[in-house]
Amino acid sequence: MTLNLEVLKKDEHNLVFVIEGISIEMANALRRIMVTEIPVMAINEVIILKNDSPLYDEIISHRLGLIPLKTDLETYKLPQDCECSGFGCPLCQVSLTCEITNTTNNPLEIYSGDLKSNDPLIVPVTPHIPLVKIDKNDKVVIEAYAILGIAKDHAKWQAVTNVYYRFFPKVDLDDSKCTKCPDKCIVSRMCPKNLFDFSNNKAPKLIKDYQEKCALCNACQLNCPENAVITDREEDKYIFSIESDGSLTFETMIKKTFEIFNEKIEEFQGSLEELDIDLTA
Ligand SMILES: [Zn+2]
Repeated sequence: MTLNLEVLKKDEHNLVFVIEGISIEMANALRRIMVTEIPVMAINEVIILKNDSPLYDEIISHRLGLIPLKTDLETYKLPQDCECSGFGCPLCQVSLTCEITNTTNNPLEIYSGDLKSNDPLIVPVTPHIPLVKIDKNDKVVIEAYAILGIAKDHAKWQAVTNVYYRFFPKVDLDDSKCTKCPDKCIVSRMCPKNLFDFSNNKAPKLIKDYQEKCALCNACQLNCPENAVITDREEDKYIFSIESDGSLTFETMIKKTFEIFNEKIEEFQGSLEELDIDLTA
């Protein structure tokens, strides 16, 4: 099987790519792995030694759990796979502490960036997430422990904030039929994404790279009075869009997705071989 992957757009939090050569079942399997099975770091245990803030300990703990943390999958192991059997050791756990006394005369806001990690690589993705506000002379002392986990167990361990795929669109425009069209091009007006260029007022043209924007709404095919447009989708070709909170790089995420996918296939094959199916029944 050959897989083709072409990146259309990439920035810090978004990745859009075209993937070719896989079935829809495999595309969906990849999506589900990304949503639920890629491990990331999140705070799982909090010890609140002092909390003078107006927020309950539970609310602060909940907020701490939701802070996206930069994750290093090379160094850290899932607690259940660790030699310490999940008891907590430098290979499966990171501690983050925060000790702040408001010595100013104004209320003081505490942010995710105020958490001090014992591993400089495992820190909040952004230091600007507000945690709690304390009044003058008030104090907050927190000890928190982050571990790797997967979103199947809790959404705080979700590596992606959103992931979806859609069919790769194919729009055939036969502009020889356009000369007979009685009206101004209705198709170029009906397309909600403005994918038809009708600037020359004679025949519409599809804009360059229209596939990236086309949502296959079919408005063109349904509204063209001369049946000049036929919409379809390419076989085994999809556009994937991934949104990430930044805890993992997209490279690591994609690599890990295929790693997990292959593990699942191997496990399935192993289970099949063990099965003793009686075909005579
Ligand atoms: Zn351990």
